[in-house]
Amino acid sequence: PEFISVSNLADVLGVRQAEFIDHLEEIGFEGVIHSHVLDAETAGLIAEEYNFEPIFETSEQDLVAAPEPEDKSHLPQRPPVVTIMGHVDHGKTTLLDWLRKSSVAASEHGGITQHIGAFSVVMPSGKSITFLDTPGHAAFLDMRRRGADLTDIVVLVVAADDSVKPQTIEAIKHAKQANVPMIVAINKMDKDNVNPEKVKQDLARHSVDVEDYGGDVQAIPVSGKTGLGMLDLEEAIVTLSELLDHRADVEGNAEGWVVEATTKKAGRVATVLVKRGTVRAGDILVAGTTWTRIKTLKNEAGTVIEEATPGMPVEIDGWREQPEAGSEVLQAPSEQRAKDVVDYRLERSDIKKLGQDTAAINVSRRETL
Ligand code: GDP
Ligand code: MG
Repeated sequence: PEFISVSNLADVLGVRQAEFIDHLEEIGFEGVIHSHVLDAETAGLIAEEYNFEPIFETSEQDLVAAPEPEDKSHLPQRPPVVTIMGHVDHGKTTLLDWLRKSSVAASEHGGITQHIGAFSVVMPSGKSITFLDTPGHAAFLDMRRRGADLTDIVVLVVAADDSVKPQTIEAIKHAKQANVPMIVAINKMDKDNVNPEKVKQDLARHSVDVEDYGGDVQAIPVSGKTGLGMLDLEEAIVTLSELLDHRADVEGNAEGWVVEATTKKAGRVATVLVKRGTVRAGDILVAGTTWTRIKTLKNEAGTVIEEATPGMPVEIDGWREQPEAGSEVLQAPSEQRAKDVVDYRLERSDIKKLGQDTAAINVSRRETL
């Protein structure tokens, strides 16, 4: 029971169908009709918006992530995962390019990196940061819609000569809705006609509690063109990550998310961002309805690496079918188990295609005071 129709979900949530469908369209679903079948993750996200707490029933035939430990304090720190958002032409791509060139992999390879969906930058202090390589709001929302909440920190880029613009406001809304903390990069500071104070005032007006305006959101003046302030930006990210205390277990079954997937000459590869555990060659991973026994792990320079730990992006080969970006990755104990899980999931998606509405997830009202 991992699916529910729009009309049944509306009933469970106690909302009128028409109203419910309007709301789904507002939040980005297109052409919704009452008989549409939603998967459990999507239904769960929607239920949460209505202040319900979804309880996912899982089948023994499936693979599922281990529950999050309540106390992580004894676990090792992991690098934060950062997404860059902001108005068009404010410099997202330029900032990412600058950062990509400063990645470890790049410094070992004459500055050349491939686009694999994510890359790591190591700071002089030895701490590292992982940047998701696809700027923009669509990618962020698309990932979340699939249940992949892998962004820890949003860097909001605002051009110092243009200040807050419609897509800046949109980005603020997305970050707040997703409950992801922000750092502001006030970009293009190498230009003459800049006004960083106006940027801060405008942000404060849009409920971003920037430093100097009574809040604690850091606003760092930078230039993606000259590199001015970029180290400060990276340090601000590391400091915030330490404050948020990002930690993850490096033991146990590996888990992660597919960030990007393509087919190359060498076969089907996917960039996986490890969330938990350690991934090594020979491991068997399932992502959606495909699986792999890993032959090689590579970083963003195409260098073969031994293992990947939480917070690290890694390119993984050997997929039977190309996985989809946003799919959850889970380690299977054997090839047979991986095949069984994939078969089970394929069967399930056939049911979904037929529109047969198996009684879905349980939804219970959250206790509120
Ligand atoms: P995006 O749409 O947010 O990805 O913006 P881009 O990175 O494509 O940048 C838009 C334009 O602004 C390009 O012409 C960049 O060269 C320019 N630009 C980006 N960052 C800076 C900067 O720090 N200083 C200056 N002078 N120009 C910049
Ligand atoms: Mg761009």
